[in-house]
Amino acid sequence: MKTAAKAAGKPAKAAAKAGAKAAGKTAGKSGSTKATKTKSAERVTEILRLLHERYGEAQCALDHRSPWELLVATILSAQCTDVRVNMVTPQLFAAYPTPEAMAAAPIEALERLIRTTGFYHNKAKSIQGAGRVISEQFGGRVPQTMAELLTVPGAARKTASVVLGVAFGKAEGVVVDTHVFRIARRLGLAKGDTPQKVERELMRVIPRERWIGFSHEVIHHGRAVCVARKPRCAECHLEKLCWAKDKTCHSAGR
Ligand code: SF4
Repeated sequence: MKTAAKAAGKPAKAAAKAGAKAAGKTAGKSGSTKATKTKSAERVTEILRLLHERYGEAQCALDHRSPWELLVATILSAQCTDVRVNMVTPQLFAAYPTPEAMAAAPIEALERLIRTTGFYHNKAKSIQGAGRVISEQFGGRVPQTMAELLTVPGAARKTASVVLGVAFGKAEGVVVDTHVFRIARRLGLAKGDTPQKVERELMRVIPRERWIGFSHEVIHHGRAVCVARKPRCAECHLEKLCWAKDKTCHSAGR
C-alpha cells in the first residue's frame, strides 16, 4: 500500500511542482514585462520633461500673420530652410495677400517670387492651387480639420499638422520633419524607417497634449545640438537617456 500510494503521489506532486514553477515563471515574466514598460514610460517622461525644460519657448520658425500665410510658408519650406522661406514670403504676401489673389496670380510671377526656395515650378502650382481651393471651397478661410486640409493642393499630412497645431492649436498628428525623424530614432522613441511610421510610433508613446510642443522642441534640439552629422553629445542634456549608435561621447559608467 505504502509503495502504491507513493507511486500514485509522485506524478501528482511532480505536476503540482511543475504547475507552481510555470505559474511562478508566468508571474515573473509578466512582472518583468510590466517593470520594463514602466521603466520605458518613465524614460519617455523624463526625455519630454528635459526637452520642455530646455526648449519650452520654442515656436514655429516660419514667419506668418495668419493661418493662410502659415500654410503657404509651410508649403514653401519643403526641401528648404525656414530662413530662406522667411526671405521670400514678405514680397510674396505683399503682392498676393489673400487666397483669392494667389489663385489669380500669373504662375510666372509666383515662380519668380519663390524661385530661391527650390522646386519652384511645383511650389508655384501648389500655392496657386491652394489659393483656388481655399477661396472657392472654404470661403477664403483655411479649414481646421485634417481631412479638409488634405484636399488643399500642396498640403500633405506634415503640412496639415503644422497648420492645425501652430495656427489652431489642434493636435491631429506629430510633425515629423528631418530633425524629428532623426532624433526620435536616436533617442529610441521610434524605430520606423519612414516619417509615417515614426509619426505613428510617436503618437503612441507621447501624450497628445505634448504632440505640438514636442515637434518644436525637437526641431530646436536638432538645429542646436543633435545635428545630423557628428551630434554634439558632450553638450547634450539628454545624453544619459540616449542610446544612439552614433553618439559622439558617452558619459562615465555607460
Ligand atoms: S546624446 Fe547625442 S545623439 Fe543623443 S540626443 Fe544628444 S546629441 Fe543627439
